[in-house]
Amino acid sequence: MAAHAGDPTLARLPQLDALLRADAAAEPLATHGRPAFTAAVRAELDAVRTRLRTHGGEVPAEADLLAAADEALHQRRAGRLTRVVNATGVVLHTNLGRAPLSAAARAAVTDATGYTTLEYDLDRGTRGSRTAHVGALAAELCATERATVVNNGAAALLLVLAALAGGRQVIVSRGELIEIGGSYRLPDVMAASGARMVEVGTTNRTWLADYRDAITDDTALLLKVHRSNYDVVGFTEEVGIAALADLGRRTGVAVVHDLGSGLIRTATDGPLASEPSVEASVRAGADLTIFSGDKLLGGPQAGLVVGAAALLRRCEQHPLARAVRLDKLQRAALEATLEAHLRDPLPADVPTVAMLHADPDALHERATAMAARLEDAEVLPSDGLVGGGSSPGTTLPSWAVALRTDTPDDLAARLRVGELPVVGRVEAGRVLLDLRTVPPSLDAEVVAAVVAARRA
Ligand SMILES: *Cc1c(COP(=O)(O)O)cnc(C)c1O
Repeated sequence: MAAHAGDPTLARLPQLDALLRADAAAEPLATHGRPAFTAAVRAELDAVRTRLRTHGGEVPAEADLLAAADEALHQRRAGRLTRVVNATGVVLHTNLGRAPLSAAARAAVTDATGYTTLEYDLDRGTRGSRTAHVGALAAELCATERATVVNNGAAALLLVLAALAGGRQVIVSRGELIEIGGSYRLPDVMAASGARMVEVGTTNRTWLADYRDAITDDTALLLKVHRSNYDVVGFTEEVGIAALADLGRRTGVAVVHDLGSGLIRTATDGPLASEPSVEASVRAGADLTIFSGDKLLGGPQAGLVVGAAALLRRCEQHPLARAVRLDKLQRAALEATLEAHLRDPLPADVPTVAMLHADPDALHERATAMAARLEDAEVLPSDGLVGGGSSPGTTLPSWAVALRTDTPDDLAARLRVGELPVVGRVEAGRVLLDLRTVPPSLDAEVVAAVVAARRA
């Protein structure tokens, strides 16, 4: 190649074709496939060429060039979606995929991976509805006329605003203009929907009269948003959903409650006692209530809107509905999850529910058994969290296996990159593995992962 002219070091760099013909190339070629491995070897040669030009040095051996390309492809595979053990104690950990699915939901997903009745009516042999069945389950569970199910909670709100308030006014309290991470900001969603936001009240205090005085002929909706991930304390005032629904009825303006977390039944005690429920929102008279499928419901990513049929039909007919529709795997998992909630108000077979209500004594017993099988480990109390923008400030009293080490950050990092990645918390110079979020069936594997990480 002309680029080598006059540079004897670069000229000694092996040619791509020769490298791919080498014996050592056979195995990576078979593992990764010819196109991928060829591209990786070419990228490695380019990188080496640049390095030699700028820093000089020796031409690497053929075997080293091939090994580097092989390693690069293995690294890329490591970026795939990977199963992890959540030992953080945060039940709805958004970075770890929020709700883990129940066995029934997993089985339903597996069944749905082939051809399904997604939009097919078996009795008639004609086209059926994608969401009629799952919507009917959600409506029954929430005791509403109808339910519309879409891809996620943000999409649900976007669709409701676009369909019911496009080009018109939506009144919302300044105390509820939330940002919930992952670039979700209520005012931005509102703008994207084409609705015009009318802010009322102040950050800490909003009165019913603030909403009432802002209503005009152009007002399409009154929106109440669950603050989800923070509390406002001190000198505060907010309008509850019942009073807002009453105002809506008197003025003929529909009231939408974006609840986010989606606790179905009101909890009278326990960690969710301060969490607003779908049940309470519906009973209080919200025309539409919006929540996520993968928060407290414990299902797949999905956005559910339950309430008045006439409003929901308008949402379903809006062009955006197609863009935010539910996928078949989501639908399968959601149906199984809704069925579990219909069978039992606190379904123990839904992992999120089981973890939130896990008995601390049972967690202590497991932690003790695991710590006994490890060196430099003890059992310590741990504060878990609900997560997923629910019950901020509420901790879940739990127990952790605490790993003693001089280098806790290193040990935590080795645990994360092991064969079965375990994500824990570093606290007080130890690595804590909070067992509330670890399925008991994985205890032995976690012990093995700790042993392996200590050796690594
Ligand atoms: C979580 C949340 C959303 C967004 O729901 P996703 O399912 O994450 O898209 C919207 N509003 C509120 C109040 C939330 O808590």
